[in-house]
Amino acid sequence: MAFNKTKIIATLGPATSDIDMMYELIKAGVNVFRINFSHSSHEDAEKLIQNVRSLNEKHDLNVALLADLQGPKLRIGNVEEGAVLAPGDILTFTNTKKEGNAKEVYMNYQLFPKDVKKGERILLDDGKLVLEITETNSQDTVKAKVIQGGPLKSKKGVNLPNTKISLPCLTEKDLADLKVALKHEVEWIGLSFVRSPEDVKELRRIIDENNAPSRIISKIEKPEAVVEIDGIIEATDAIMVARGDLGVEVPMQGVPLIQKMIVNKCHKTARPVVIATQMMESMIESMTPTRAEVNDVANSVLDGADAVMLSGETSVGKYPLHVIRAMSKIISHVEESGQVQTKEENPPRYRNDRFITDSICYNASKIADQVGASAILTMTFSGYTGFKISSHRPKTNIIVFTANRSILNMLSLIWGVRGFYYDKMVSTDSTFADVKRIVREKGLVSEGDMVIKIASMPIFESGMTNMLKISQID
Ligand code: PGA
Ligand code: MN
Repeated sequence: MAFNKTKIIATLGPATSDIDMMYELIKAGVNVFRINFSHSSHEDAEKLIQNVRSLNEKHDLNVALLADLQGPKLRIGNVEEGAVLAPGDILTFTNTKKEGNAKEVYMNYQLFPKDVKKGERILLDDGKLVLEITETNSQDTVKAKVIQGGPLKSKKGVNLPNTKISLPCLTEKDLADLKVALKHEVEWIGLSFVRSPEDVKELRRIIDENNAPSRIISKIEKPEAVVEIDGIIEATDAIMVARGDLGVEVPMQGVPLIQKMIVNKCHKTARPVVIATQMMESMIESMTPTRAEVNDVANSVLDGADAVMLSGETSVGKYPLHVIRAMSKIISHVEESGQVQTKEENPPRYRNDRFITDSICYNASKIADQVGASAILTMTFSGYTGFKISSHRPKTNIIVFTANRSILNMLSLIWGVRGFYYDKMVSTDSTFADVKRIVREKGLVSEGDMVIKIASMPIFESGMTNMLKISQID
C-alpha cells in the first residue's frame, strides 16, 4: 500500500461503486471516499457507506467518508443522451420537471425567472457552456442564447456570476441527505456554497443536536466566502478550495492565488485544507494525465494541501485506478524532494487557550526535524494534537494513538497523520513502552531510529499534552 503524507480523496460513482474496485483504489492510495449527494440516492449512499465500513473492518483500515452536500447549487435536470448546444441556439429553462434536450431543460431553482434579468450570463457545467439571457417571463420560463456551445449533460451545475441568489446554505434536500450521513456517523460533511461563518455554525448545531462525531469541511466556492474567509476558517474544522464553482464565480485567473492564500491561512490555524476539482480531468477519458495536470497536482502538494481530490475522474471516468496510481506517484515524488513545508514558521501565541499543548506540538515538530526522528508519536482523544502537529508539517511520520474509534478514520484526511487504536491507560511510562513496541512491530520504525513522544502526565489529565520525550528505538 502507498503511504503518502498528502492524502487522496476519491469521489465514488458508477465507475467505482463495486466493493472490489473500492479495495483496489484504497491499495493504490485512496484515504477518503467522497459521496457526492448531488448525484447519489440515499440507497446508493448507504450501500457505499457499508462497503467502506466493511473494507475497514475486513482489512483493518481507517478509510474515511466525506458526505458532500449539494447546497444551494443550481442545476439543470436530466437531459437526453447526445444533446449538443451550438452558438446562436436558444435554450429554454423551465420550472417544470421533465427530461431535457438541446431546446428545453429543467432548472431546479424556482425563483430563477424572478431573480434574473435580460443580458445576464448563465454558465453551465463549470463554465464550459456560456449563455446570455434574452427573455424571462418572471414566472416559470427563461430563454437564453448560446454564446459558447458544447455537449449539454444531465444535472450539470449552473452559475450566475451576475445574480444574487437568495437560497439558504442548507436546502430541504441537504437536510434529508444530512440525516443519512449523521445516522451513519460519516466522518466529514462537505458544506457547499458557504457564504458566512453562520452557515457553518448552523450545520454544527445540527450535528451537535444529533450527537454525531462528524466534522465540517467548508467549501470555498463563492466570492462572499473569500471575503469572509477568516471567520469561516475559525468556525469550520476543514476547508475545501472548490475550484470548479469558485473558478466560475470569481474570475478564473484569481483561483491560483486564492488557493495559496487559503492554504497558508489553514496552516496557521491548523485546519486541514483540500484542493479539489479538475486535478486530473483529462483522465476521465484518457489513460495518462496532461503535463499541466501533473503540474497542478505537484504544485498543490508543494503549496501544502492536506489532501487532493478527484471528482469525475473516479466517479464516472474510464480509468479510476490509473488516476489514483498516477496521482500517488506524483505526490510521493514531490514529497521525497523534501520541499513540502509551511510558508511561515507558526509558533503558538503565548498564553492562548491551549498554549501548553500547542507549544509541545510545535516544538515536537521542530525537534523531530532537528534530530531526524522517524516518527512523532502522540496520544489523543479529540484528534487535536494530530491536527496541530500536522499543521507544522514536520518531515517525519505523525503517528496518532487513540481510544476514540470515530476519530481514527477522520484523521485519514490529515496531512502526514496515521492513526492506530490504543486504549490502555496505566501510566505514561507504560503507554510509551507500548506505543514504541507497536510502531516497531508494524515496521514503521527500526532499531536505532529516533522517535519523539508526546503525552499528558499524569496520564489521566487527558486533553492536556504537557510533556515530550526523545528516545531511540532499541
Ligand atoms: P462540487 O464541488 O463538485 O460539489 O461542485 C467542488 C467544486 O465546486 O470544485
Ligand atoms: Mn462546487
